[in-house]
Amino acid sequence: MSANVLEVKANLVKVRDGRGWGWAWVVDRCPFCGMRHIHGGGGRDDNPSDFLGARASHCKSRRREYNLIEKEE
Ligand SMILES: [Zn+2]
Repeated sequence: MSANVLEVKANLVKVRDGRGWGWAWVVDRCPFCGMRHIHGGGGRDDNPSDFLGARASHCKSRRREYNLIEKEE
């Protein structure tokens, strides 16, 4: 894990996909643009934790990289 990449907390949610449902990681408030971003978390049979880590932000203006971590309750 790079110390230079910002950590961003994400909530795991179930989403519908073409084959039924899958997982998604939701960033409520992006640290770069303030928007809500949704990142794929795999399909029903995947481990969503495998999709955490370095991801490209979904900012409209400029994509940057952040490190997704699971939000703890
Ligand atoms: Zn953003």
